Amino acid sequence: MSFESLGLSQPLLQALAAKNYDTPTPIQQQAIPSVLQGRDLLGIAQTGTGKTAAFMLPSIDRLAAANRRASPRACRMLVLAPTRELAGQIADSARAYGEYSRIRVATVFGGTSINKNRQDVARGVDVLVATPGRLLDLVEQGHLTLREVEILVLDEADQMMDLGFIHDLKKIVRLLPAKRQTLFFSATMPKAIQQLAAQFINDPNPVQVSVAPQSTTAERVEQYVTFVQQQEKQALLTMMLRWGFGPRGNMDRVLIFTRTKHGADRVVKLLAGNGIAANAIHGNKSQPQRERALALFKQGEVRILVATDIAARGIDVSGVSHVINFELPNVAEQYVHRIGRTARAGNDGIAIAFCAEDERPYLRDIEKLTRQKIAVEPLPQGFVAEAQRIKATRTTPAREEHQPRHEQRRFQPRPKGERGKHAHKVKPMGGSRRRASR
Ligand code: AMP
Repeated sequence: MSFESLGLSQPLLQALAAKNYDTPTPIQQQAIPSVLQGRDLLGIAQTGTGKTAAFMLPSIDRLAAANRRASPRACRMLVLAPTRELAGQIADSARAYGEYSRIRVATVFGGTSINKNRQDVARGVDVLVATPGRLLDLVEQGHLTLREVEILVLDEADQMMDLGFIHDLKKIVRLLPAKRQTLFFSATMPKAIQQLAAQFINDPNPVQVSVAPQSTTAERVEQYVTFVQQQEKQALLTMMLRWGFGPRGNMDRVLIFTRTKHGADRVVKLLAGNGIAANAIHGNKSQPQRERALALFKQGEVRILVATDIAARGIDVSGVSHVINFELPNVAEQYVHRIGRTARAGNDGIAIAFCAEDERPYLRDIEKLTRQKIAVEPLPQGFVAEAQRIKATRTTPAREEHQPRHEQRRFQPRPKGERGKHAHKVKPMGGSRRRASR
């Protein structure tokens, strides 16, 4: 199937060719024809499936075809996203896809100057990508009206709920015209999200698309769990980053998740103490700091990024080779989102969870939700002695590349044939394979 056969216009096909996209992803195949017809849509999809293009391409086509201009201080398409990073990425995609369609795109999110936002929307825009709080500020101060919105997109609805945006969303929906097209996306669709969708979508019978069964993890992600004491996680992480992960050596681009902002900073600091460069991205960092950390990670200049769930949600970085759950999330759905950061756009990925004794209930919740048993990867050989050494040396920063050669050799990843007997790809539960023991 080609993009042409989905009914997209020439300027968009030209933009897609420039990005070297030749085949639509499943969600694009399912969504684009209906959105082009102006239908409302309810989509269940994780990031990494191509959903941004699935809603952006047909919407740009419709905006361009209507050949109308936005009034001053108005927008024709409003995309609501939970985080600044995601909003920025969606706007970048809109600009790339709309390059030959002459559409004006603007972003509005917290952490940037509200005066600049005001100027950006003053002449009216075709596509406005916004986080809910700042959007409401602009409307309430009279710098923006939502009365001309023709297309509304609500992206990552479950994350919006988790972040407590529900009241803002309810306010926003009252400011929108009843006659509009609504496209609603969420990675998971529990009851509360279905109810939210019902408030936003006017069509009693919207087109429904779903690209991964609800709450299952990306198929191409190999998942492992290593049991380790909380206080030894840092040593395990340091060893992995230096010498590679047993089943798959090269850790080219590693995204590490912690539960708290403070935890993320601590991991970065302790890694630095062991001569390993990393950056953190979380809500206490300024917008320029977040952008810089993300850019360095994207460019491959700093291969390790430590993030909290909120900051990482929606981050679209291709080539993330490993996701490390330094701490397990206490909400099982979050695990699905985290590991969805790897294995994007056709690549494979590895997800490793560090599970301390008191996190075992979280692991059980995750396995229940994903209906998968996660393979156990034992601690590396010689872990105890090496952990002691790392603890003793971590206050004296040494550059990674200055590690003595004989030490580097001690923890070479084991070749595939020598892997721990419990290290295998994740298989759905209930298969014939014996369950990995704990
Ligand atoms: P998304 O799920 O929207 O975050 O997209 C995931 C990644 O896939 C992004 O880097 C997109 O640029 C990329 N992508 C989206 N659609 C296609 C396609 N049809 N062919 C190749 N890459 C795509």
